[in-house]
Amino acid sequence: MILDAIAEYDEMGRDAFLNTYRYRPARDYFLVHEGRRYDSKAIAGVAHRGVTGQPLLAGEFSGGRETVARQLIRLGFDVTAPGLAIGENTIENLLLKIGSLRTGTSRLTGRPRRHQPLTLLWAHGRAAQDEPRLEQWQQTSTDLSALISKFGNADDRPNPEFPILRLFHDGLWDLDESDVPPASTSIAQRWMRDHAPTSGLRPWVHTIVTQHADVRAQIVLRLLDKYFEGDDHEALLIAVGLVTVPDAEVALIDGSPSPQRRQSTTMRVIRDSALAQQIKNLHRHHCQICGRRLELPNGCYAEGAHIRPVGEPHNGPDEPGNLLCLCPNDHVLFDRGGLTLTDDLQIFDELAGQVRGSLRLAPQHRINIAHVAYHRQVARQS
Ligand SMILES: [Zn+2]
Repeated sequence: MILDAIAEYDEMGRDAFLNTYRYRPARDYFLVHEGRRYDSKAIAGVAHRGVTGQPLLAGEFSGGRETVARQLIRLGFDVTAPGLAIGENTIENLLLKIGSLRTGTSRLTGRPRRHQPLTLLWAHGRAAQDEPRLEQWQQTSTDLSALISKFGNADDRPNPEFPILRLFHDGLWDLDESDVPPASTSIAQRWMRDHAPTSGLRPWVHTIVTQHADVRAQIVLRLLDKYFEGDDHEALLIAVGLVTVPDAEVALIDGSPSPQRRQSTTMRVIRDSALAQQIKNLHRHHCQICGRRLELPNGCYAEGAHIRPVGEPHNGPDEPGNLLCLCPNDHVLFDRGGLTLTDDLQIFDELAGQVRGSLRLAPQHRINIAHVAYHRQVARQS
């Protein structure tokens, strides 16, 4: 019965199926079948035809979405719970989850509580330094308590139990325990202290943020922008190990940079990575020169390439008009002057002395011709 409803859904397409039976699109509970997602309540309602001869329309449905989900699970189907999408361990889904943390609000400041953002920043710092994914509770608890005390809202209690449990239930965190209680009660806190679980990012999350420094940077940036606006980002980044303190001696020999300058450099590096990620997403990781997309087990790979180099002496700007999405080979060819672009964005092979085709473009990504001309000039000088 369920399978018939799934087949009908596949045949009609999601919109038509939902319209026909007057269901609203599901937001939290999806039935997952053969790697595809289905609105669980609509499927259950339509499957009801097998019982009564009539599908249940949305309005005739008494069971809540959770009840439906439980019944489907009992029938042996996978159902995603809120914030926990089965079979969707993708970068996009990770960013979605990071963007929708349920943090609660500080009564004192009226701002979101910072337990979960701090826990995530801490874990990303560990990932950035190639530390083990899992950590003993004693260490986790000590580290997080200190971070919450120092960087939390003034009324954020330094209790690391709740963010860990919350992130666990939202599919981002791993605990070496079963029968994990919900995150809200004092029972939960006691349970955590008694069990002292080893914990850390879920394996798929850990894999993404260790293998993709740009995704990691994007997550860090989003957390900083959303939860720590107006705060001293550098102190926080240093505390979680996402930025190392510059070597004082080197700084002195080079004519020591001021703290302001250091902070802006730090933030620029992180912002750059996030911008490059946006450009890559616009092109869906297809190389703008050869069109190829490298597909890896954990997602696609491409590189953000500046047209006018950002370093001295070229000082190209960090803006979309100065970025390309390229595969690693074409990135090297472009950076070393083997390939250039004409003013009408044809790809010019400098060795063969001829045009190789047109640069692939995306509607929302306008390339600045001035940077293209600059790059061409530099390539031909060297
Ligand atoms: Zn390429």
